[in-house]
Amino acid sequence: MQEVVVLGSGVAGLTAALSAAENGASVQVIEQADALGGTTAISGGVAWMPNNHLMDEHGLDDSNDQALRYLREVVGGEGDFQLLEIFVKEAREAALWIEELTPLQWEALPYPDYFPERDGGQLGYRSLEPLGWPVPEDIARQIRAAPNRAQEQGVLTMGRALIAGLLSAAIQRGVRFETGRRVTSLKELSDFSAVVLAMGGFERDSDLCSEYFGQVVPGPTGIPGLQGDGLTIAREVGADMGNMSEAWWCPSTARPGELIEGQQMFRLLLHERARPGCLMVDGRGERFMNESLNYNDAGRTLLGLPRLRPDGTVAWLIFDSEHRARYHFGTLRIDEPDPDWLVSSTSLEELEIQLDISPGQLTSTVEEFNVFAFQGVDERFHRGQSAYDRFIGDPTSSHPSLGKVCTGPFYAMPVIPGCLGTKGGPSTDQDGRVLSKGAPVPNLYAVGNAAANPLGNAYPGAGGTIGPHIVFSRRAGRSAARSGC
Ligand SMILES: Cc1cc2nc3c(=O)[nH]c(=O)nc-3n(C[C@H](O)[C@H](O)[C@H](O)COP(=O)(O)OP(=O)(O)OC[C@H]3O[C@@H](n4cnc5c(N)ncnc54)[C@H](O)[C@@H]3O)c2cc1C
Repeated sequence: MQEVVVLGSGVAGLTAALSAAENGASVQVIEQADALGGTTAISGGVAWMPNNHLMDEHGLDDSNDQALRYLREVVGGEGDFQLLEIFVKEAREAALWIEELTPLQWEALPYPDYFPERDGGQLGYRSLEPLGWPVPEDIARQIRAAPNRAQEQGVLTMGRALIAGLLSAAIQRGVRFETGRRVTSLKELSDFSAVVLAMGGFERDSDLCSEYFGQVVPGPTGIPGLQGDGLTIAREVGADMGNMSEAWWCPSTARPGELIEGQQMFRLLLHERARPGCLMVDGRGERFMNESLNYNDAGRTLLGLPRLRPDGTVAWLIFDSEHRARYHFGTLRIDEPDPDWLVSSTSLEELEIQLDISPGQLTSTVEEFNVFAFQGVDERFHRGQSAYDRFIGDPTSSHPSLGKVCTGPFYAMPVIPGCLGTKGGPSTDQDGRVLSKGAPVPNLYAVGNAAANPLGNAYPGAGGTIGPHIVFSRRAGRSAARSGC
C-alpha cells in the first residue's frame, strides 16, 4: 500500500489526503498548529466552480467554453492555460465529488464574477458556498476557531464547514492526523512513498516577501505561521519556481488589540469600501481608484502607494456620521462608541489637519465625489458601473454604490495593503507533481497556496483560490496514491 504524507491541513491538504485515501493509500496529515484547517478555516470557504451543477437551478447557462473564454479575458500572460483548461473541465465534477464523499453540500451564490461584463463572464452562481451543517463535537473541536465569528451553536459555516466536511470524510477513510509538528525538510520524513506540500503561502515571512515582492506585506489577513516552509522544501530539491511575485492581494485594516495567536489580526475590507457614502483617498487627499474594485486589484494598487504610517497605512476610507450609523465595519459595530484608532473630526477641514493633508484638498475631493453621488455617475473612476460593484455595495440603497458624504462628524479608517495568501511556489504538472528543470521530482507534490498558481496575477471571482485548489489537490492526491506503482 502506498504511504502518503500530507504537510498542512487547509483545504488543499485535506482534499489531497481524502483523494489519496479514496484511491487506496495509507495517509498521514502533519499539521504544525494545534488545530486543523489553516487559513481555510477562517475563510469564507467559497469555491469558484464555473459551469457547476447548481447553475441550472438558477436559470443560468454556462459552459466550459464560456468559462475558458472568460479566463482568457481576465488572466494575463503569466497564466498557465494547460492547467486552467483542466480546472475548467473538472470543476463541476470536483464540486460533486465533495458532495458525494463528504457530508457537505454546496449552495450557489448570486455573486457576479469580478469582471461580469467581460466576454464569458457570468452575473452569478459560479461561486459555491458550503451550506452550514451540524458537525459532531469530536470533529468540530479539532478545527481552528474563526476569531470573533458569532458562536456557531454546533452548526459550522463557511470555511469551518468546508474543513469539517473534508476532515470527517478523511477520518472515515482512515487518514491519520498529527498536530503540533512543523516540518521544514524532507530529511525529517522517512518511509513514505509520496509527500504532498500543502503548507500555504509565505506571506508571514518578511525575508521571503522582501525577496519576491520587494517589501513586506503589512496587512496579511490569514493565519500567522505561514512562513513558506513549502518553498524551503521545494528549494531543497531544486524545484522550478513560478508566479513568485504574486499574491491574492487585498485592502485590509487593523483594529489594535484584536489578536490572532498573539499577533495583530488584519481584516479584509470588501463591502466596507463599496457601500454608498464613503470614498478612499491617498496621503494627498485624492481618490486614486474605483473603491469597489475587486480586492485583488485594489490590494495591488495599494501596494504601489507610499506609506503614511509605520503600521503600513497607505490610504484612508472616509465616511460621515450617517454612514457610520448605518453600516457595521467588520467587528466595529454601529452601536459601539467611536474607538481611538478611528480618526474622527467635526469638519473635513479639521480631518485634513489630523491626516496631514494639504488644506482644501480633502474638502475638494469630497465636493467632487458628492457631485458624482448626486448625479449617480462616478465620472472619474466609474464606481457602480459594473454589476459586481453594485452587488457588493448596498442593494437596498437608492444607489447601491454612490451616496453623499456631508454630515459631520467625519471619519477616516486606515487602509493597509494586505493579502489573503501568496500564490507563488514550486511549478507543478497537471497532477501536482513538483517540477525541476521541467521534469517531475519523484514522489513530491505541491498544492494550494504552497504551489505556483495557474491564474497568474488574476482573481476571476469569489472563491477563485479555493475552487482551483480543490480541483488540483484532488488530482494530486490521486496521483500520489498511485506513485511508485
Ligand atoms: C478572511 C479570509 C477569507 C477568505 N475567503 C475565501 C473564500 O471565501 N474563497 C476563497 O477561494 N478564498 C478565500 N480566502 C483565501 C483562502 O482561504 C486561501 O487561499 C486558502 O485557504 C489556502 O488554502 P491552503 O490549503 O493552501 O492553505 P491553508 O488553509 O493556510 O493551510 C495551510 C496549513 O499548513 C500548515 N503548515 C504551514 N507550515 C507547516 C509546516 N512546516 N509543517 C506542517 N504544517 C504546516 C498551516 O498551519 C496551515 O494549517 C480567504 C482568506 C481569508 C484570510
